[in-house]
Formats: sequence, structure tokens, C-alpha cells
Amino acid sequence: MNDFAKAQRPTPKAGVMDIAAYVPGKATVQGVAKIHKLSANESPLGASPHAVEAYRATDHYLSSYPDGEVTALRQAIAETQGLNIENILCGNGSDELLGLLCQTYLAPGDEAIFTDHGFLVYKIQTLAAGAKPVIVKENDTVIDVDAVLAAVTDKTKVVFITNPGNPTGTYVPFEEVKRLHAGLPPHVLLVLDAAYAEYVRKNDYEAGVALVSASDNVVMTRTFSKIHGLPALRIGWMYAPLHVTDAVNRIRGPFNMNSAAIAAGTAAIRDREHVQKACAYNAEWAQWLTDEFTKLGLKVTPSVTNFLLVHFPDTQNKSAAKADEYLQSKGYILRRVTSYGFPEALRMSIGSEEANRGVIAALTEFLKS
Ligand SMILES: *Cc1c(COP(=O)(O)O)cnc(C)c1O
Repeated sequence: MNDFAKAQRPTPKAGVMDIAAYVPGKATVQGVAKIHKLSANESPLGASPHAVEAYRATDHYLSSYPDGEVTALRQAIAETQGLNIENILCGNGSDELLGLLCQTYLAPGDEAIFTDHGFLVYKIQTLAAGAKPVIVKENDTVIDVDAVLAAVTDKTKVVFITNPGNPTGTYVPFEEVKRLHAGLPPHVLLVLDAAYAEYVRKNDYEAGVALVSASDNVVMTRTFSKIHGLPALRIGWMYAPLHVTDAVNRIRGPFNMNSAAIAAGTAAIRDREHVQKACAYNAEWAQWLTDEFTKLGLKVTPSVTNFLLVHFPDTQNKSAAKADEYLQSKGYILRRVTSYGFPEALRMSIGSEEANRGVIAALTEFLKS
């Protein structure tokens, strides 16, 4: 195409071409038949059988529009979590909700704050809204509340906190989250991304419901992609003050949730037993893997989630890049996390027993060689 034709064609608005597109975790390795995908924090237990059944039953409704108000799913969330249905808004994955919040509250000239190991979607959506990302350093692998507060300016409109963190697996106690909130001006929206909340077994952790209820500027986002094992259907929800759900409702797609997602999500969140099973399974294997990595001489960041951040020595032949290459050749796909600020680490999702044991066996070989 010549320059004249290029200059004539439609051009994206300012900033769009500066965005680095999100790169999902790999799912295949060429030439390796049996793959264990441990790169996307998917649940090794899969979805609840009731969710699968509810999903299958939706094939009768393909010619009807879904319920634009998502009543069944919002009702199920409200009942199981003890929340008011009016304050719940669902999205096509929490990714969509994060984007909608940016579109609703950020304009060119505004700033959004998040930490250097925060979720990459915040940056993409902040830039897409024309606003400026302000990135605050974590204290090693943990969010530093004072550093976040120090970055607030007149232009700050949104603060994103991943709690627990991804890819760190660490968490901030609720007292610290409350201290962060107390230090923010009332016009700043605090978004608590609690994608891994169900896995946390710590008395001083809370996903943020109490803070949302008690204030006008806090939103909590949650997902069905992790413990509920339904990432393919794209189901997220947020719990927010009514003035926030009212604003976001005005710009979301009128049918942003499809019927299969609504049906499967409704059944999934009502299956408390499946959630408990997934949580117990995760705790057991997270501990086992942490112990095994440690025995191999690898440092693991203490995790409250369904994944581990494993650090490799910076000797050339035992680096994270080399370990990743070796593991892939054996069929184990972990996640490189260079773009999250950890070039020397790999993130491993807790997998099936076979996958977990396999990774440890492969790394034992790798480190010996
Ligand atoms: C997985 C994840 C989500 C969930 O995304 P969905 O769009 O709901 O699949 C959100 N935030 C973080 C930090 C995550 O790791």
C-alpha cells in the first residue's frame, strides 16, 4: 500500500497504536503431543457437573436473545454471597468490567494508578480510554499502600488493586486496603480485583464487600474463570455502589452476557460443594509444590492463590527461560512473566496430580543436568 492510500484510510484514535496487545499463555507446543497447560490459572477440577448440565440445556434457546438484565445469575450471586442484587452487574469476563469502568470514569488527561506487577488489562484499558497509566513499584512482591497513596494527584480517577496479586500470589490484609481507601480523595474510584478471592485462607483477608457497602467509591470485581472453572464462557461480576452500576449499565452492551454463560454461571455458584472441593484440592497441592520447589533450591513467593511464582537462578543454563524451554519440551507449559516484571521467574498454575508431579520430576532432571 502506498503512503497516499495509508494517509486516506481510517486511523485509530490517538494512543490506540501505542497499546501492546495482551498475549495469552501458550496452549500448545509444536511436536509435543501431550500437553499440561499450567499457564492460565485454570482449574484442574474443571467446572461443576451442574454447570455443564445447565450449559448443555441452553441449546434449546439459541434463537432467543438472552436476558439483558441477567436476573438468574445476579440472583444466584446475591443469594450465595449474601449481597443485594441491585449492586451486582455482570460482564463478559471481569476483563470486560475493567474496560467498562475505564470507559466510564477515565478521559484524556486523567490518570489511573496500578502497581508494577498488576494485571496487564488495567494498562490496556486505561490507554484505550485515552488516560495515563501511573505505575507504582511494589515492595518486592507486595503492594505498598504508602507508595500508591503517594502517587495520587488531582488527575487520579481510578486506582486498581489486584488482591490477591497475579502473578505474585501475595495479598494485602484488609486493614491495609482500608487504610488505602481512607487515604484516597472521595472522587477516586478504588477497584479491588479479587479474581482469586475464593482460594485465600487467611483471617486477615477480605475481598472487599464491606468496603463497597460502606463507601461510595469502591468496586469489587470477581470472576467465574478461576475457581468455578468456566473461563471459556467469559463470566465476571462486580459489586458496586448503585451510582456506579447505574453509570456502567448505560454503556455496556445490552446483551453483554450470553444465555450459556448465564445458565452455567448460575448453576456453578450454587454448587458450594464443588467450590469447597476446588479450594481444598488447591491448598493441598500448593503446599506440596511449594515444599518440592524449595527442596530443589528454588525460591517460591508465598502464595494464597491457585498459582505459584517460582524464581530461578540467573546462571545462564539454569535460567527461567531455559527451564521454560525444557519444561515445554516435556509438555509442561508454564507462564513466562517478564512483562509483569519477573524475567527470572515462571508462574505455574496448580494442576492435576499428574501435572504437578511431572513438573517437579522434569525440573529435578533439568537442574541436575
Ligand atoms: C484471571 C484474572 C481475571 C479474570 O478475568 P476474566 O476476564 O474474568 O476471565 C481478572 N483479574 C486478574 C488479576 C486475573 O488474573
